Amino acid sequence: MRYLVLSDLHAGLEAFESCLRAAEGKFDAAVCLGDVVGYGPDPNAVIDLLLRQKNSVVIRGNHDKACCGIASADDFNLWAKAATYWTRSVLREEHIAFLRELPPGPKVLPGFEMVHGSERDEDEYVMNAPAAMPILQEQQLQLVFFGHTHYQGGFFRDRTGASRRIGAGDMNDAGRDGRVLSVHLEDETRYLINPGSVGQPRDGDWRAAFAIYDDADRRIDFYRASYDLPKTQEKMAYAGLPEPLIRRLEIGK
Ligand code: ZN
Repeated sequence: MRYLVLSDLHAGLEAFESCLRAAEGKFDAAVCLGDVVGYGPDPNAVIDLLLRQKNSVVIRGNHDKACCGIASADDFNLWAKAATYWTRSVLREEHIAFLRELPPGPKVLPGFEMVHGSERDEDEYVMNAPAAMPILQEQQLQLVFFGHTHYQGGFFRDRTGASRRIGAGDMNDAGRDGRVLSVHLEDETRYLINPGSVGQPRDGDWRAAFAIYDDADRRIDFYRASYDLPKTQEKMAYAGLPEPLIRRLEIGK
């Protein structure tokens, strides 16, 4: 089985469409680690497109909860809060219902687990090795996919206890199809893997991020896909979304 692993789409339609084009023919099921909406200009269209993907499994993120009103946006900064209120005002009724019914992580699928933040807290940011190591030590399954940080890569720990981080410095553009890194899963090593953010990367690369996991080959391929960024930015400006949210997309921060 080949899984398209998506996270943090954040209502970025052009970014999402570009990922789907790059992944075409390469996956049998789509999994989404949350934050389908929030920040971006196309919450309804992104939910519609996600629902059209074959065998999709989706868990909720913190922005999904805030945008459908089951959590408050009080903890968000001013810009995120403004985007949340705007999203609430445009979401169609059936999409609010869809977001409300999204299950929280962790969600176990054959051979791996999905979480938004972490296994112990769906809203936890696992940003660095000190945060990741205790989680990897307790992790029951070999492979856990997480999102929330908007950084493509992740962490792993081998049987000797040695740990490693995979991040922007390990990615390279040698692959013409947009593949920036392949990781082969090794026995007795545990992996905490972030496919990166589709709609609002923060790892210094503006391009949309995703991953494909092939459980027969025991391989994870990380990808980056260019998309029509000016089009997304124009829509955000037209919607009156905060300027800093528009600008950050072009620097990937
Ligand atoms: Zn997010």
